[in-house]
Formats: sequence, C-alpha cells, structure tokens
Amino acid sequence: QVSLKIESVSKIFKDYKGREIKAVDNISFEVKPGEFVTLLGPSGCGKTTTLRMIAGFEKPTSGRILINDTNVVEIPPWKRDTAMVFQSYGLFPHMNVKENIAYGLKMRKIPKEEINKRVENILKIVGLEGFGDRPPSSLSGGQQQRVALARALVVEPSVLLFDEPLSNLDVLLREQMRVEIKRIQREVGITAIYVTHDRTEALTLSDKIVLMNKGKIEQIGTPEDIYERPASKFAAEFIGKINFFPIEVLEIGKEETTIRLKGKTYKISALPTAKSEKYILGCRPEGLKISKEGPISGKIKTVVYLGNFIEYYIDTEFGEVMIKIVPPFESELVEGSEVKIDIVPDIAKIIP
Ligand code: ADP
Ligand code: MG
Repeated sequence: QVSLKIESVSKIFKDYKGREIKAVDNISFEVKPGEFVTLLGPSGCGKTTTLRMIAGFEKPTSGRILINDTNVVEIPPWKRDTAMVFQSYGLFPHMNVKENIAYGLKMRKIPKEEINKRVENILKIVGLEGFGDRPPSSLSGGQQQRVALARALVVEPSVLLFDEPLSNLDVLLREQMRVEIKRIQREVGITAIYVTHDRTEALTLSDKIVLMNKGKIEQIGTPEDIYERPASKFAAEFIGKINFFPIEVLEIGKEETTIRLKGKTYKISALPTAKSEKYILGCRPEGLKISKEGPISGKIKTVVYLGNFIEYYIDTEFGEVMIKIVPPFESELVEGSEVKIDIVPDIAKIIP
C-alpha cells in the first residue's frame, strides 16, 4: 500500500489563441495508504486534469507529486504503478474478456500460467466468473465496466484511479456498481482516487472528499465533515440541498453561536465553519420545521409525497425554501396553505 502527496500542483493550459487557462491552481492534498479519496466538483473544475497528472498523462506546470515520498513528476505513466478506469470503458472490441484483462500482463511479459491464474482470480473478485470467453459487446454496460475494473486491478497497481466510471450506467446499475467498487477496493486494500461530479457517489464511497471549484480546493474532509460543517456557501450547496437565510451574529461563544433571524434570537449549537466578516444561516431540508412559533412566513407551493417523507416547497420572502418532513404527517398542510417556518437550532450551520 502506498501513500500519495500532491504538493502545490498547478496546471496551466494554453488555448488556441495562446491565452492561459489555469485548469488546476496550486492544490495540495494527501492520500493515505489504502484510503479512498474522491475529487468532487462541477464540470471543468480540474478533476480530470489532476487525475491525469497523477497518472502521468499530463505534466504539472509546477508542484510535486509524491508516491511514497518519491517525486514522480518526471516518471512516465507506464513506470508509475498507477492504473486508470475510464467512463468509456475503453475495452478492445476484437478481444474477449480474458484477453482484455490479460493485455497489461502480456505487455509486462508475465509468464502464461501466471497470467491465467491472475485473470481467473480477478474475474472472481469482480463477479464475472465464466464470462472470460465472451466478447465485450455481448456484455451489459455494468459488466463491461467490471471488465475495465478487472483490467486495471490485474496489474496490481499501487494506486487505482477512476475518472467518472459510472456516468454511462443507468441509475440502478450505478447504485449497484457503487457498492461493488467500494467492496473491491476494500478487499484488494488498494489506494484509490475517484473523480466524480456526483455528490451521492462522493458521500457514499469516500473516506475523504477533496471538493474542487475553479481549479482550487474548496474544502477537504470526510463526507460528514463537508455535509455537516461546510466551509463555504459553495461547499454547503454542492454537497446537498440547503436553504440559506440572512442572519445577524450576536455572539460567537466557545461552543455555541447566538444569532438573530427576523427578530427571533437563537442559540445555535455550532460555531462558524470558518472566520468571516459576514455569515449566513444554512439549514438542510431536514433542519427546518413548520411551526406556529417560526419567524419565517411562507405559502406552500408544492407538496411532494415520497412515502417515507414529504417535501414541501414553500415561497418565502427569502426565496423558495424546501423542507423535508418525516411521519406522522399533518394533513392540513396542502398546496396554498399559509405557514410559519422555524429552524432546528441543533443542526443549523453558520456559514461564512
Ligand atoms: P473536470 O474533469 O473537472 O471537468 P478538466 O480537468 O477536464 O475538468 O478541465 C479543467 C479545465 O481545463 C477546463 O476549463 C478545460 O477546458 C481545461 N482543459 C483541460 N484539458 C485541456 C487541454 N488539453 N487543453 C486546454 N484546456 C484544457
Ligand atoms: Mg473530467
């Protein structure tokens, strides 16, 4: 198992007019041995470029990439001991499943018996026993992605890199493969970096999330850190649905913050997630309630019944607010009802 360090890495591209594009702007993070780290962020924020620099397909404009404390920036991809799984599986159509998986081992001049043994073993791990002789075109998308994963794993790389590997699959398969990828990564014990723009994937898969925005790192933390303690408005919104309210911060104590929201004073059992001159209040849909004591007035616009909870979309002076309510449900809350909204101070967040 290896560790990985990204130190002050930048990548500047030139566009066709010779203008500079800062695809990756001075980022640093660490991946511990066996850890599963996700690079999460909107399209164009520099995730793929970062992954390609780790794999060696791109050279950083500046900065260092350390694999087990060795700077690999000058080392070509095939000598780096990394393997990559792509969104578009990248299987060879004229080879069967076994040959696809064996390809990298053949290139490395591994003896035939050893290749067969390793291919059979990896087919078992990815759940494709008995599929070895089939052409990739006869497999479903999920199965093809498993072959791509097997092909990356079979060379026993030290670092496994994924670039949005599930984007081409339908929802159900995506959920299933998400669980599979995690299981396999744990079973093999490999250090993994996973690129995605999908917050659910990042939340469910990661030991640690590196949240990126416009080439920079917005926040690094466990899924819970980022969901519960977002360091910025961007982080709060990107990791999950949230409602924002303007507040006055009256006092920042040792363990709680006193705020005023529309004339009502609250003690929030959280401190600001970072220092700032101004703060807003962030409430997840489960962090609001409909209550006569609430300071925010609104009118229910849409009610969405989802069985185990109801979502209320409510027009307020602060814009549309979304509240999630679990049973027991109150039947008088229908579209058009005038309501008062209150916050749940225990899970509200003070966001810079
Ligand atoms: P992501 O994977 O997060 O969607 P990318 O790393 O692919 O983002 O791209 C980051 C930025 O760098 C984008 O603005 C993209 O257009 C630009 N970019 C990526 N690769 C190149 C390249 N080879 N030449 C010029 N610009 C590039
Ligand atoms: Mg990308």
